[in-house]
Amino acid sequence: MARTLELFQQLANLMLQKEDQYAVAPYLPASELYDQLDLNLSEEPMADADYQESLSRLLEYTPKTATPGFFNQLFGGRNPDAVLGDLLAVMLNNSMYTYKAAGPQVGVEKVIINTLNRVIGWGQGGGTFGPGGSMTNLMGMIMARDSRNPSVPFDGIKNKMTVYTSAESHYSVPKNAAFCGIGREQVRYISCDEQGRIQPKALKDQIEKDINAGYLPVLVNLTAGTTVLGSFDPIEEVAQTCREYNIWLHVDGAYCGSVLLSKKYKHLIQGIEKADSFSLNAHKMLGTPLSCSLLLVRDQDMLYNSFSNDAAYLYQTDRDEFNLGKTSLQCGRRNDALKLWTLWKRVGTTGLEQLVNHQFDLADHARNYIENHPDYTLFSFPDSVSVCFNYKGIDAPTLCTALYEQSRLLVGYGSFDGDEFIRLVTVNGQNSIVDIDNFFNTIEDFVQDNQALFGLTDPLVNQDDF
Ligand SMILES: *Cc1c(COP(=O)(O)O)cnc(C)c1O
Repeated sequence: MARTLELFQQLANLMLQKEDQYAVAPYLPASELYDQLDLNLSEEPMADADYQESLSRLLEYTPKTATPGFFNQLFGGRNPDAVLGDLLAVMLNNSMYTYKAAGPQVGVEKVIINTLNRVIGWGQGGGTFGPGGSMTNLMGMIMARDSRNPSVPFDGIKNKMTVYTSAESHYSVPKNAAFCGIGREQVRYISCDEQGRIQPKALKDQIEKDINAGYLPVLVNLTAGTTVLGSFDPIEEVAQTCREYNIWLHVDGAYCGSVLLSKKYKHLIQGIEKADSFSLNAHKMLGTPLSCSLLLVRDQDMLYNSFSNDAAYLYQTDRDEFNLGKTSLQCGRRNDALKLWTLWKRVGTTGLEQLVNHQFDLADHARNYIENHPDYTLFSFPDSVSVCFNYKGIDAPTLCTALYEQSRLLVGYGSFDGDEFIRLVTVNGQNSIVDIDNFFNTIEDFVQDNQALFGLTDPLVNQDDF
């Protein structure tokens, strides 16, 4: 093992060096993947030197998500304290289902969940970790289904159920409706206002329409940080409707649910204590390694109702309270809690709060930059860490793809209300204002150097033509 750790150290150092050299990684087209890299598996063992060479090349060509050139999805950076926790979790290799197998790691997980429950304002709340936000959203939907018809886990679905979500919500909602037996056709997409937030009145109208048509509405899914615009649905008002019609309220905070930890931005999820369940990805705004997805539930019993199952071979000591497998989607489950715990332990709640606030500061800076530079068009608004814009009217997919293929930046694009734009996400808490300026400068220089590619012609050249 000692030699392996030495090799790890060497490879990690190599990665850090490469990260200084390239914005993200040298571009490797998928069509050339198997020609460029030695990925095939062979019958015989590999010599040490070849093995190391093979790993080095693999690392070199893998996109580096921790660099200030990566803005592609809703994560980024590399927080050392969180990385330490995840490395230790790999070395320890516990499975979180029982106290017998995980010991004090169970306490690590429970302390995080209990602390977050207290911040929300739930007295006896519960929760668990799941393999990603899509899956913790699935757990919310399963509880919604089972709580509105407790016979479903035994008999299956007999009456048609409906779920409600905004047109701007994450694609896991229809996918999960398919998994749950509710069906994609029973997902109602509610229209949004001009900032991409669900319209409570339209929601209420749709619920009444469905009830009159004989459906059983089971779930309203709200989003705290929509995937494209980073908007926050109004929880308070919708919670009222959910109470009125006895519908489970889940808040998908996978992207920006971590505002919970910021006194300054917690108002964006005002009313969260009225939700039945809340999902949050610490691997997005809190910057832990992937994945670190929490599901928090107002009533712990609902988790047991939907996810516990007897298993004599597994649960042999201790009370249910310490055997976390009884509230889990999985059987064996990796320890995703430790990386958040090491981070939190090290920087304190104030450190997490600063981390969240800093990302909003970076977004404010980016919006200011755009507003002060006439070549840009802004499609975003305050209180969002997604900054959507276009540059010189260039088609966003063309520009993003060219930046990718020439290894300048990884950034994605999105659309809303008929506009298509580049989406800069300021979720790498390690970025500075200078990194954001560099992002824009990189785009500007790149466009300047590749005018023909974007159908822009230099007016001076045109004049020379005449
Ligand atoms: C990222 C995201 C998800 C999915 O989370 P994964 O961990 O990628 O499965 C769900 N909802 C929203 C709003 C997200 O931003």
